[in-house]
Amino acid sequence: MIVHKTPSLTIYFGNAQDALFPDQYRALKDIDLPLISIAPFDGMRKLLHARSLIFLDQVHKADGHVITSDCEDWKSFAREGDYLISRLPHVGLGIMTADCLPIVCYDRQHHALGVAHAGWRGSVGEVGPAMLTHMQKEFGTHFDQVQIFFGPSIKPCCYQVRDDVRKAFAQSPFADEIIQWHGESYYFDLPGLNRLMLEQMGVSKEAFHLDYNVCTACDEHFFSNRRQKERAGRQMTVACLS
Ligand SMILES: [Zn+2]
Repeated sequence: MIVHKTPSLTIYFGNAQDALFPDQYRALKDIDLPLISIAPFDGMRKLLHARSLIFLDQVHKADGHVITSDCEDWKSFAREGDYLISRLPHVGLGIMTADCLPIVCYDRQHHALGVAHAGWRGSVGEVGPAMLTHMQKEFGTHFDQVQIFFGPSIKPCCYQVRDDVRKAFAQSPFADEIIQWHGESYYFDLPGLNRLMLEQMGVSKEAFHLDYNVCTACDEHFFSNRRQKERAGRQMTVACLS
């Protein structure tokens, strides 16, 4: 686990040590205790100074929710969606991944936050741009004023793909940059695609913090669907405003 901490924002990048399996976290939506009182969320709560934590039932699409004070009693993992945006301080917005890309967007000007879950399907649906557009509508976010953090995800060194993925991006203006033929296979650059899509909206190259974007398939500190198949748990990325 790594914590990125500034006076205004804390981001928790978890790894396999504090991860959960899907049947474990899905069961939590039927429990009547606040998520923050249950391990491993209680430790995270202390690090983030969070009074509540919110996770979604992620469905690989490009829809999400605005979290206001009315939403704080939402059952975690019960509502469908792939991004969360909010201006509430001390509320942790969480994403579960095992190769998909966690995207955190911070708008310093409006003290607003977004977290998104972007796998290849969500990226076809442009979940990252959808989250930023929602932040613009809701909070007045300017795309050239945000900071973007990418968490751990599978990277082009390991993301060998079949023709279905190549075809899904055939019309993308970035197709040549994000799908490359090496030897006998195509390899897909998931974080590269998400960076290019956000840059096209007006996010500056300097806005991207990529230090936390290590390859989950190469690095055995992380769970990876590609490496472990059905034995893969999910690591957490949780961001929280101060
Ligand atoms: Zn790799």
